[in-house]
Amino acid sequence: MAVMQSSPCKVILQRTGSSLRKITSGDVFYRGPSMAAKKAAQGQKEEEGRYRHTVNLPKTTFGMRANALVREPEIQKLWDEHQVFKRVVDKNDGGNFVLHDGPPYANGVLHIGHALNKILKDIINRYKLLRNYKVHFVPGWDCHGLPIELKGKYHLDCCLCSLRCQMTLSDPNLAATANPRDLYIGHGVLLLPPPFLQSLDQDAKKDLTSLNLRAMAAKFAKETVKAQMSSFQRFGVWADWNNPYLTLDPEYEAAQIEVFGEMALKGYIYRGRKPVHWSPSSRTALAEAELEYQEHHVSRSIYALFKIVTAPSTNDGSLEEFFPDLCLAIWTTTPWTIPANAAVAVNARLEYAVVEAKLLSENVPTSAGNEKRRLGNVLKEPKKPFLIVALDLLPTLETKWGIKLNIKKTLFGSDLENCRYAHPINNTECPVVVGGDYITTESGTGLVHTAPGHGQEDYVTWLKYGPKKLGSLYSPVDDDGKFTEEAGQFKHKYPYDWRTKKPTIFRATEQWFASLEGFREAAMDAIGHVKWIPAQAENRISAMISSRSEWGLPIPVFYHVTSKEPLMNKETIDHVKSIIAEKGSDAWYYMTVKDLLPEKYRSKASEYEKGTDTMDVWFDSGSSWAAVLGKRDSLSFPADLYLEGTDQHRGWFQSSLLTSIATKGIGVESINPVTRGRAPYSSVLTHGFVLDEKRNKMSKFLGNVVNPRDVIEGGQNQKEASGYGADILRLWVSSVDYTDDVTIGPNILRQMSDIYRKLRGTLRYLLSNLHDWDVENAVSYHELPMIDRHALFQLENVVKNMREGYESYQFYKIFQIIQRFVTVDLSNFYFDVAKDRLYVGGTASFTRRSCQTILAAQLLSLTRVIAPILPHLAEDVWQHLPFKYTTEDGSVAKFVFEAKWPALNDKWLEFPAEEIDFWGKVLELRTEVNKVLEVARTEKLIGSSLEAKVYLHTSDVSLASRLLEMCPAGNDADNLHRIFLTSQVEVVSSLGNELVETIQHSGEYLVGEDRVWIGVSRAEGSKCERCWNYSTQVGSFVEHPTLCSRCFNVVVADTQLMPPMAAVTI
Ligand SMILES: [Zn+2]
Repeated sequence: MAVMQSSPCKVILQRTGSSLRKITSGDVFYRGPSMAAKKAAQGQKEEEGRYRHTVNLPKTTFGMRANALVREPEIQKLWDEHQVFKRVVDKNDGGNFVLHDGPPYANGVLHIGHALNKILKDIINRYKLLRNYKVHFVPGWDCHGLPIELKGKYHLDCCLCSLRCQMTLSDPNLAATANPRDLYIGHGVLLLPPPFLQSLDQDAKKDLTSLNLRAMAAKFAKETVKAQMSSFQRFGVWADWNNPYLTLDPEYEAAQIEVFGEMALKGYIYRGRKPVHWSPSSRTALAEAELEYQEHHVSRSIYALFKIVTAPSTNDGSLEEFFPDLCLAIWTTTPWTIPANAAVAVNARLEYAVVEAKLLSENVPTSAGNEKRRLGNVLKEPKKPFLIVALDLLPTLETKWGIKLNIKKTLFGSDLENCRYAHPINNTECPVVVGGDYITTESGTGLVHTAPGHGQEDYVTWLKYGPKKLGSLYSPVDDDGKFTEEAGQFKHKYPYDWRTKKPTIFRATEQWFASLEGFREAAMDAIGHVKWIPAQAENRISAMISSRSEWGLPIPVFYHVTSKEPLMNKETIDHVKSIIAEKGSDAWYYMTVKDLLPEKYRSKASEYEKGTDTMDVWFDSGSSWAAVLGKRDSLSFPADLYLEGTDQHRGWFQSSLLTSIATKGIGVESINPVTRGRAPYSSVLTHGFVLDEKRNKMSKFLGNVVNPRDVIEGGQNQKEASGYGADILRLWVSSVDYTDDVTIGPNILRQMSDIYRKLRGTLRYLLSNLHDWDVENAVSYHELPMIDRHALFQLENVVKNMREGYESYQFYKIFQIIQRFVTVDLSNFYFDVAKDRLYVGGTASFTRRSCQTILAAQLLSLTRVIAPILPHLAEDVWQHLPFKYTTEDGSVAKFVFEAKWPALNDKWLEFPAEEIDFWGKVLELRTEVNKVLEVARTEKLIGSSLEAKVYLHTSDVSLASRLLEMCPAGNDADNLHRIFLTSQVEVVSSLGNELVETIQHSGEYLVGEDRVWIGVSRAEGSKCERCWNYSTQVGSFVEHPTLCSRCFNVVVADTQLMPPMAAVTI
């Protein structure tokens, strides 16, 4: 806003926004006491050297630099040696907190997504530890199937899961031992293929189990777990590392069989055929989660004509006028599924047309690649057929085919239902059916070739009409489809195998399914009782569960040799379970059918064979609530929290929920009513994926992969990318809004590093100015100067808001709060002002002790509230505390996590509203004063701000009187000139012309709603040798002619305190 200008100099007279948000210009001034201290510290032989020993310099061994590559491992070692995690858990008595770890695959080095996930978990766990919870965190690994990246020539198939899993063996010994094609991997254990096993006699089989082949694969899985574990530990993650859960543990597998058995006995498991995503490149069925949809897939597509043979009798017969040359025109991107055609589907509500085809020109070129060649032979014949196509698509088709289509008749899709046409391959009659709204006029002809064995929508249509009408599911295609010469090409989004990056096809196979029919409602009900973070996740999982009817569940089962009837009942399940609990699942492969069958069936062992199916990979980890939560004493069902990436809505969150509801959900009165019908989790938190700084997916090809180990330890070229340490990585995790995809890259990491350095500097300031602190020195709250009470009010608010951030898992808010607090409230204001009090206020003076009281509170609170995010930094600070911290129970907290979360100080928050308002104005005023000082300095009127005297005038009477009280204040701390870091401040009652004219630099500013006139002149009096403040009293003390009155008093008091030292040093 425009204000009066009264200065000959060009003072900027406008305020914009809140000055609090800006970094004040105060930093550019040479600060008196700090400069004196600095020079003294450098041992310069200045005049003021005489009083050097009376200046309290900051002192600490806490490093300015993190030196994270050395210091973090030292701190982790300290935690290990003292078992700090266990100590704190044992001592805490505020109830249990169980975050149930979702198992990552034991498949190689950790990527940045793993880091995001585990660090988020650790931040939560560590916060709960500070909040006095007993935190039980059991880390898990999914070892089944080992979906190792395919590379080299030694990739091996898993015999447990019908080729689902593959593994690369780079071990030359193993490669030399056998032809890899004869080796099979399953559940992390190398097995030999069943045909080979069957050819061996009993003794040979026993020898085989001891072969180093099996040992090597088991070793591989365990080594991977070990390597990943050590990386997680380097991130600073606390967990029960000595007792992780592995899905290959026999007790885990047994619990899984138990869950499966309960579901089977309740009738939720059945066997049937269903189209699945089949990957010809890895010869395996894929779950939805194993697909990648690639945008630019090129499919060959064809148009085909199916000749109509009968029209329904209900029809008025008008279609018959076009017989026998009436055809349905269809279009497909999967021509190889034509033999499996069972029907043509139409949309009942779409309008269709019977059209007559006419060539545009008789000059049909025949060279390859031109328009006409795509027409195919049918339309080249002299007698053109009548075609049925969707009315809206006529113009498109005319352009594509390069012919004219004349409309003969229009009709609705419903009129076509039950027309029959001749199958193009075998000439059998097939029906026209009404499909769903998936049939549109966006592409094709509006008539959809339906092969239920090859497509999900086709399958649903098939279910609707049933096998009687459409025949049984037919899927004659083996591994690949053949394309016709005339096939065109079509670019669209298409599912690819995530491992081989090759396209998949739909193919019906025999599988085990779990039906949701019996417990869908209970599952939906349980979803409603879970807290979903972010909230929209609830809709996602609800939609998935309400739309699905079953999920694939291949399992170990016996089949009758001749009838192929499966044998599976309580006895067989219990028996297999007990064997697997003892020997692990590989027993299924090396034991005979006779041994695997319970007593009752042994005599019939020769009539049965073992199934080679296994449970779905998702079912594996989905049983973890039973195998881990349900089996370990320290854990409980349901867990307080599950926390994984958004992809787990269709994966682990869902399979865990369904298996839990199916077995505990309904109709079982014996189940504890507390757990009956409940999801295995009370809350679910999901996070997005990690992208690069430009929001691109990370890929080796693009070279934009951020490897967590490189972030911590530095890349291969240490000069280009030196290591930041784990805390920087953790700070990044806290800074992102993980409800969406998050980004990371070199610039972001540099920013994190700057913020970390600022925070570390803040903590170092606190430590170094408390080197002589003892809690006995503390000044009680009611005696504290107002500037200090205001600082405690700010601190307590920060602690309170950070607590809310942790409780709601909104860590990015904590990150913002801490950044602002450190920069604006502390560095730019409180610390800046405090230097005078701390360095030259006098060792045991009230002003210094009251200031230290605040610093101690800030240090203790700040260190603890950042500890969940930056545990290494917090512990490093704690180990450098210059005093002991005693907890409420009277014990000394040796480690930061023993100190618990700071207790609530209601008193500090009760800072009166009018004081909050007033101190807000003081801070604004300080910013404006700094602007005028800066101009005065530029104009060479002053050098240091201590060479200045500030004049203030405001017509607001109450503000003027408050300011007047602070010139000087009853205590030295609230003195306005100390707050401005100038030598004098005078509040003038009126702006007489004389005064205004003598003051070179002035301006009028808006502070709150009050106009304040600010003037600056040179300070009165001479410079004090000790504190560099100007004072008219300098020269009035005979023994200390160069001191101001404040310093005179301090020096006299200090001399009395420590005369011998003082005498010696001078
Ligand atoms: Zn002084």
